[in-house]
Order: sequence, then C-alpha cells, then structure tokens
Amino acid sequence: TDFGYRDVPLTEKKPLVRAVFDSVASRYDVMNDLMSLGVHRVWKRIFNAQLAPQPGLSLLDLAGGTGDVTFGWLAGGGGPAIMTDINEKMLSVGRDRAIARGYVSDLSFCVVDAEQIPLADRSVDRVTISFGLRNCTDKMAVLKEARRVLKPGGRFMCLEFSQVQVAALAPVYDAWSFKVLPTMGQLIAKDRDSYQYLAESIRMFPDQETLADMFREAGFAHVKYQSLSGGIAAIHSGWRL
Ligand code: SAM
Repeated sequence: TDFGYRDVPLTEKKPLVRAVFDSVASRYDVMNDLMSLGVHRVWKRIFNAQLAPQPGLSLLDLAGGTGDVTFGWLAGGGGPAIMTDINEKMLSVGRDRAIARGYVSDLSFCVVDAEQIPLADRSVDRVTISFGLRNCTDKMAVLKEARRVLKPGGRFMCLEFSQVQVAALAPVYDAWSFKVLPTMGQLIAKDRDSYQYLAESIRMFPDQETLADMFREAGFAHVKYQSLSGGIAAIHSGWRL
C-alpha cells in the first residue's frame, strides 16, 4: 500500500526519551508485565476491541515500540499496518517479534517522530498511540498530525496512563509507582533512572478531561474516553469528519 510516504529528516532533541528507550528496549516486554502485574495486556485487549480491526482498513501505529497494538490489529483481522517508533531499538525488537509471529505481509516498519508524520494527508483509516503520547514533547503536534493523516471518517485512538479517580487507590498507586517501580528498575534492569522517569512522566500527563479537550482543539469530533482500572489508564478516541 502506498501511504504517500515522504522523507522527514530525524534530527535533534529528545535525548532523554531516546536514552530511556534505548536502555529499556531489550527488557521492555518483561518489565511491562512485571511492573503492571500483567494488567497492560488487559488494557490493550480492551483497546483493540474498541479499535475493531477490519480487513478493509489501514492502521498507522505511532510510538508502536515492540508492537503490541499492531499485533492486536493484525491478529484481529485488520488490514495493512505501519508500525512506527522514533526509536530504532524499540522498533527492531518489534520487527523481530513480528517475524517470530509470522506477521510479514501487510506490515511495514518505519522510524517516525509522531510529531512530524512522513505520510500524505488523508492516507490512513486508523491511527493509534499506546503509552506513547506521554513521551512526546509537543502533544498537540501529535494530535494534529494524527488528524491530518487520517482519511475523513477515520479514527484516532490513544491508550495512556491517566489520573486516578478513585481516592482509595491513590496512596497504593503512589507507593507502587514512586517506591516499588524505581526499586524494581534498579534491581532487575540496573536502571533506576528510567523507571523514575516513567513515574514522573505519568504524573505530569494531562487528566482525562484535559486530554479530551486537547483532542477537540486538534479538530477531532465525537471525542470520548473511558477510564481503566480506576483511572490508572484511559482510552481516548476521536474521529476525523
Ligand atoms: N506502543 C507500545 C506499547 O504500548 O507497548 C510502546 C510504548 S513505549 C512505553 C513508548 C514508546 O514511545 C517508545 O518506544 C519510544 O521510543 C516512543 N516515542 C517517544 N517519543 C516519541 C516520538 N516523538 N515519536 C514516536 N515515538 C516516540
């Protein structure tokens, strides 16, 4: 499929985020399972069910990392997919996993900065970003780019950590993310800083309503969201009309 690819040079910035994901790439999947106690798999299953893959539709997965969302799409019978990430190491783990699972046809890989998508306007049916928007510097640029590359009638969906809405959960969750996670990062991955960054980036991310407002500001219609696990994560969705 020709999605109107044009080359955008990947220059400059984002050295911290790059260093974090360079350093975690090889252990990313196992750490994800440990640190979320496997719950991220449940969230991704719910996300994929709402995404509702169909053979006639194309997908652009932004910040795709090691491929969970793309694989959910393909396993669910979705059409041509482009798996992208700004980090070559994460993407190459994803490519190895794709080959191991036999996902070869209808799948392409591309190093892409979600803030500057190298595709033509109106070229894909679905755009996803899962646990990626938090890491992008200019979040509004990502939302606008996602809308730009969507065909009219296309849908953008984001899965991301959000703000806990159940008061009783807050102290447990705080202890988990600020004490347990960095310690696990240190013991298992010998990398406390990356997991400290994770906890901090989660707290700084806009809450459910604020992100929904940003979707509207970027031009999306029928914006809605669903909190998961008491607001630890949320799924946001918007349509390009
Ligand atoms: N989507 C995968 C998942 O749900 O498991 C991977 C998420 S991982 C936590 C976040 C990813 O965002 C990393 O692979 C990182 O390289 C990528 N990322 C960070 N900044 C980015 C940017 N500006 N554009 C595209 N990807 C970016």
